[in-house]
Amino acid sequence: MLTVEEARERVLSHFQPLAIEDVSLNEALGRVLAEDAVSREALPAFANSAMDGYALRAEDSAGASAEAPRRLRLAGEAAAGRVYQGRVEPGEAVRILTGAPLPEGADAVLQQELTEVAGDEVRLLAEAPAGNNIRWPGEDVRPGALLVPAGIELGPAEIALLAATGVHPARVHRRPRVAILATGDELVPLGETPAPGQIRESNSPYLAAAVTRAGAVPVRLGIARDRADELRAKLDEARSADLILTSGGVSVGDYDLVKELLSEQGDIAFWRVRMRPGKPVAFGMLGATPLLGLPGNPVSAAVTFELFGRPAIRQMLGSRQILRPSIEVVLEGEDIPRGDRRHYVRAWLDSHGGTLVARTTGAQESHLISSLQGATALLVVEVGEGVVRAGEHLPALLLNDALPWGA
Ligand code: AMP
Ligand code: MG
Repeated sequence: MLTVEEARERVLSHFQPLAIEDVSLNEALGRVLAEDAVSREALPAFANSAMDGYALRAEDSAGASAEAPRRLRLAGEAAAGRVYQGRVEPGEAVRILTGAPLPEGADAVLQQELTEVAGDEVRLLAEAPAGNNIRWPGEDVRPGALLVPAGIELGPAEIALLAATGVHPARVHRRPRVAILATGDELVPLGETPAPGQIRESNSPYLAAAVTRAGAVPVRLGIARDRADELRAKLDEARSADLILTSGGVSVGDYDLVKELLSEQGDIAFWRVRMRPGKPVAFGMLGATPLLGLPGNPVSAAVTFELFGRPAIRQMLGSRQILRPSIEVVLEGEDIPRGDRRHYVRAWLDSHGGTLVARTTGAQESHLISSLQGATALLVVEVGEGVVRAGEHLPALLLNDALPWGA
């Protein structure tokens, strides 16, 4: 039996970051930068006002107070989006609005609230020291600064930073196309009513959603009956994908058609991985296309996708963060039995008095889809005797990128 790490290493050795393309920042959410994003510009690009108020020479405000206002001549207005024509001369103030370029001659802005205006006279009720309320060029970003390193996923903040410095379009890796195929005579697709003995198919909807969330584009191949010709035809449709995910048909006692066909058509290995849920996993090349064969049980399919499929997608995206963050949590509630395979237990995280605690989502059998619902972490219960008790520390894989609070 392979360990999870050994199996994952074998899987990942077949994947590279995909080709680089330019993408509009409007479409860039969740894409991964293929090159360091470096600013050619300063941000702010020019000195400008942080307030609505009056631009002036700091020395002209010296000693000003509410009791003894200093009086300056109002010489004009500097609005955002235009450069003020002229200079602020000694004894003068220029009305200025937030974001407007600082007029020449001025070295401070006194906010409106600390002034009074009568006709063309501005009374200063306070001093404005040099630099007061001024945003300096390059204060946020200097030219040549690294904005976002290669391998980082673009979120709203990264997109704002690139937009503000004119790094557009963004150079990113192509999104992987991931073909998804369910197998089984018993399965009926969304929107159809199962006949007696049939069940509703849920692995493809799960996987399509998980693939999308991982940053890839799902290609739905539907359901293949447990018949060689049907399976062969469906898999043929998938050959242009960057990855094929199948579910079902890889365990012992199956109709074995998936196994048989995969062995016949490609260089596919069937692994027993020392993990629970989801021991049987198939992986290999169907011609030039990597194929990951997940177990049919919905929870096993979900967990094996999480441990092997998602990292493959993250690798194709060029991400630096291929694996989920692992943190240490304290178990609450029910004990968890150990066993002879590593157990990935679905759990809710919460914070109690500053400690991160985890509670299992309940019964953990691999057909219980409700055990996945709301889970914010997978607890990693290593092989061993006995149980993990409440109060013990154990590692948890975060299923969301940010810390998820609450159940
Ligand atoms: P298998 O690995 O094909 O033997 O399937 C194991 C279990 O998972 C059986 O109970 C199947 O009915 C169930 N199963 C397989 N594929 C799916 C699917 N796509 N959606 C829901 N259940 C499935
Ligand atoms: Mg089956």
